[in-house]
Amino acid sequence: MKGVVFAGDRRIEFMEFHDPKPGPDEVVLEIKASGMCGSDLKFYRPPAGTMQKALGLGDGNIVIGGHEPCGVIVAVGSGVSEKRARSGQRVMVHHYTGCGVCPHCSTGWQQLCVDGVEAVYGVTGHGAHAPYMKCPANTLVTLPDELSFETGAAISCGTGTAWGALERLALRGDETIAIFGQGPVGLSATQLASAMGARVIALDVGPERLQRAKEFGADVLINPAETNDVVAAIKEFTHGLGVHASLDCSSSPSARLQAVQAVRTWGKACFVGEGGEVTLDVSKDLLRRQVTLIGSWTFSTNGQGECARFVADRKIDIDGLFTHRWKLTDAEEAYRLFDTQTSGKGVFLS
Ligand SMILES: [Zn+2]
Ligand SMILES: [Zn+2]
Repeated sequence: MKGVVFAGDRRIEFMEFHDPKPGPDEVVLEIKASGMCGSDLKFYRPPAGTMQKALGLGDGNIVIGGHEPCGVIVAVGSGVSEKRARSGQRVMVHHYTGCGVCPHCSTGWQQLCVDGVEAVYGVTGHGAHAPYMKCPANTLVTLPDELSFETGAAISCGTGTAWGALERLALRGDETIAIFGQGPVGLSATQLASAMGARVIALDVGPERLQRAKEFGADVLINPAETNDVVAAIKEFTHGLGVHASLDCSSSPSARLQAVQAVRTWGKACFVGEGGEVTLDVSKDLLRRQVTLIGSWTFSTNGQGECARFVADRKIDIDGLFTHRWKLTDAEEAYRLFDTQTSGKGVFLS
C-alpha cells in the first residue's frame, strides 16, 4: 500500500509499505477517515525527524503520517478477545502506545507511560494517512453508531483534546469560560462547553474564525487585534469579576498571560496549546488571587470514549469543523493549504 510520509521541509512523499498484518494483541483497521491536526505541521515543516528528536520521540525513522485514525477493523490478531475487538467494528484509535501495564498505561493514559511513550502514531509509529493501519487492540475506542468516521477522526485528537481540557477544568453549566484561539481545538472547546451549558467568550484575531465560533455556540466574541485591553473587555462581560475558567488553545504568549489574568479570584486557567513560553507575575497574577493553572495534554482512552458518547447524545455537529475533505492522493495540496493556517480543519476520506 502507499502511505503519506512527511519527508521534511514541507515535502510530502507517497511511499510504498507492506500491507500491515496483525501480531498478537493487535488489529488492523481499514482507514475510513484520517484527520489533519495542527500539530502535524510541527513534523511537516522542519527537516525530517528533527522535531521527533527535539521532543525525545524515537530516532526520526520514516513513518506514515496522520494521528487522527478512524475506520473499521478488518483483521484481528491472536489473543484479542471478541469483547475487545471484532472484524467489522467501527473504531477510533487512541493514538499512542506505551508498555500497557504501568499505572498510567493501565488507566488509559499510554502517552504518559513511565517507560516513555513507545509510539505516537503518525509521529514515531505508522499513522492513518494510508489505506490500512495496525495498532494494539488496547488502544481502540468504539465509535458510536450515530457518529460519522470524520467525527471519529476529530475526536481522536483535536476535539478529544478540547474535551480533555474541559474535563481538567471541571467546567460547570453555570460558569463562563473564555477560550483563546478558535482553530479546530478551540472551536471544538466552544462547541463542547456550550453544549455543557456554560457561557462561552470566544477570542481570535481572525474575523472568520470568530464568526464560526458564534455559529458553534459562543455567546460573546472578542478580537484581541481590535481590543485595547482584552482582560478588561472580558471583565466587562462578567460583572467586573472575570471568568470562572479560561482555556488557551493559541500558544500565544500574550494570550496565555491574558488567559491567566482574565479568570476571577479562585478561577482556573488551562493551557492546551503546545510549545512556546509565557511570562507571569507569579504573586500578582496567580497566588494572590488563588488561581489554579492547569496544563493539559490530550486525553485518555476512557476520556475519548466519553467525548464520543457526549457528542452523539448531544448531537454536536463535529462534522461542521471540517472545511476540506480530501482524497489521500491530494495530500500535497492538502498540507500546502493547511500550512497557511487560514483554512479550517481537513480530513482524508476513503
Ligand atoms: Zn506504561
Ligand atoms: Zn493532534
